[in-house]
Amino acid sequence: MDTKLLLYNTLTRTKELFKPLNPEHVGMYVCGPTVYGDPHLGHTRPAITFDLLFRYLKALGYKVRYVRNITDVGHLEHDADEGEDKISKKARLEQLEPMEVAQYYTNRYHTFMDKLGVLPPSIEPHASGHIIEQIELVERILGAGYAYESNGSIYFDVTKYNEKFHYGKLSGRNLDDVLVGTREIDGQSDKHNSYDFALWKKAQPEHIMRWPSPWSDGFPGWHLECTAMSTKYLGEQFDIHGGGMDLMFPHHECEIAQSCAALGHDSARYWIHNNMITIGGQKMGKSLGNFITLEQLFTGNHDKLEQAYSPMTVRFFILQAHYRSTLDFSNEALKAAEKGYDRLMKGVDTLAKLKASESSTVDVADLRRRCEEAMNDDLSSPMVISALFDWVRIINSIADGKESISAADLEELKRVVNLYVFDILGLRNEREEGADDKLAPLMEMVLEIRRTAKANKDWATSDLIRNRLAEIGIRVKDNKDGSMDWEQA
Ligand code: ZN
Repeated sequence: MDTKLLLYNTLTRTKELFKPLNPEHVGMYVCGPTVYGDPHLGHTRPAITFDLLFRYLKALGYKVRYVRNITDVGHLEHDADEGEDKISKKARLEQLEPMEVAQYYTNRYHTFMDKLGVLPPSIEPHASGHIIEQIELVERILGAGYAYESNGSIYFDVTKYNEKFHYGKLSGRNLDDVLVGTREIDGQSDKHNSYDFALWKKAQPEHIMRWPSPWSDGFPGWHLECTAMSTKYLGEQFDIHGGGMDLMFPHHECEIAQSCAALGHDSARYWIHNNMITIGGQKMGKSLGNFITLEQLFTGNHDKLEQAYSPMTVRFFILQAHYRSTLDFSNEALKAAEKGYDRLMKGVDTLAKLKASESSTVDVADLRRRCEEAMNDDLSSPMVISALFDWVRIINSIADGKESISAADLEELKRVVNLYVFDILGLRNEREEGADDKLAPLMEMVLEIRRTAKANKDWATSDLIRNRLAEIGIRVKDNKDGSMDWEQA
């Protein structure tokens, strides 16, 4: 397969040619959500970034197995290996089973991802469904000598590991930097060093989510699930591992360490990270009062929001920025995205109505070439959008009769626009969806006119309305009492 797709590999800090990808099987793993709270603005960027990559690889003809996990166990309150499990805590507060909490928010996540046009992954494994695989992985790491047991818990021995491998190679840290960033051991800890991380934690008596293991009744450390599940479904070495930049350290660094310790090599060939969304230049956080859920975003029900923003406005907003650059959320930026999205959809509508001429005065090959170049250059969705906007102007000129387009060129233009706007950027035309909501009141109005016509014995108008509706697949039924029903064929 001839593709010039270049992606930015975080590990080597360079753009690499994706030549060695096997067109018959591309393995891609992306860290999914921890399901203890409603999906929020922070979930949108990784989901849409890797959806774009998934869609583009498929459009290029690659057979992609895309695995995105659900974290439903082992994500503790404090980022280190301490504190209550986040899902257990929510379950305790709401008097639910932990799996009820996980299921509820998994469903919510799916609903909102669907609204955002994010395709479901090929496999969506749950951490709680892969405890056996995680225990096996701990055994391998113990067997290789890179972990130790301490009071029923198993910790990864970072010092030992760093003698042979480089802990911190992904985020560009060395062990001294890591030490500065971790808290001192308080004497209560079972760890040898503050930067060691838990592979298996012995459960405290009050801890609900627990499984038997050779070491204790307990639960896996958070970093373990991604190594266990990615290699289970994609093999010991796979192509792409993605996630948000906030996961690079320590989560992905720990994943690399686990793979190297257990398998002797890193599992992922390319590490790709999306940058974060800020709000007014700040990180999103509950304590800052700028934490916005997707429901609030889509309904406008939040102090920071001046209006509701539709899912496609949000998707367009994210695609307008390159995935590696920061993206600042503001009402102004969202309103600009709303206008931009609307302009693009109007262009698509105008394109559908264009009439072909004998010959073309426009160079249709230009659009495909520019879109391909942009996507191949590290998934530059902003450049794709910019090319599409140039073509919206050209489409308007054709509609105004200032330019002309041949039948063959018109077909090709429609193919390219549909491919990039809908298949690859993954946008939907919300204006058409809105039309469905308006059908019922519109039909009420049309039938009221027909009732008036009948009352006035204006049979011609009455029949005309009935026949025209039948032509577009709407059947009108006249009831004996003079009322009318309608249905879509
Ligand atoms: Zn992960």
